[in-house]
Amino acid sequence: MELLKQRILKSGHVSSDNVLKVDSFLNHQLDIALLSEIGKEFHRIFASDNITKILTVEASGIAIASMAGMYFNVPVVFAKKNQSKNIEGDVFSSSVQSFTHGRKYDIIVSKKFLSPDDRILILDDFLARGNAMLGLIDIVEQSGAKLCGAGIVIEKGFQDGADLLKKKNVNLHSLAIIKSMENGKLVFG
Ligand code: 5GP
Repeated sequence: MELLKQRILKSGHVSSDNVLKVDSFLNHQLDIALLSEIGKEFHRIFASDNITKILTVEASGIAIASMAGMYFNVPVVFAKKNQSKNIEGDVFSSSVQSFTHGRKYDIIVSKKFLSPDDRILILDDFLARGNAMLGLIDIVEQSGAKLCGAGIVIEKGFQDGADLLKKKNVNLHSLAIIKSMENGKLVFG
């Protein structure tokens, strides 16, 4: 997606070897016009999959999934991050190793919001090592719903997340793939 790549080049910066900061348009301040184009593009890609629900994880996935939800006209469910190990209630849960914070956390989704009849599209901001995605996929599998696809705004192609998901036969589409970002220089794949 050319518009997105141009914006990453203009406004993104690499804060250390493996973390790309996109706070000015995607992760803190939100560029709504760009997010709308992102939502439209995900809809174009997955329009024929009869999606009934979009699943993401708080916090950064919510804006992206919400915009996409407007185009699909379906509800958006976001997994909540739970710091404590004492998960209460009727929930699906999975454990995720955080890429940016280096620690484990649980994600939970109420059983009320996913059912075996659902056809799910998972959306997220970044794909690095694939742990967040694997946690969300685990939750979809627990619910018995069908995983129709996974959409990523920025894939870091030099990390192993995409390979991992393709090995699991996930229908993965990334809007921008970064091949390398050594010494702060971004190269798209
Ligand atoms: P993964 O689980 O694939 O290793 O990492 C994905 C999650 O980590 C994303 O949900 C995102 O929040 C965060 N993340 C991974 N890499 C980056 C990065 O380079 N920049 C930012 N801003 N977040 C990242």
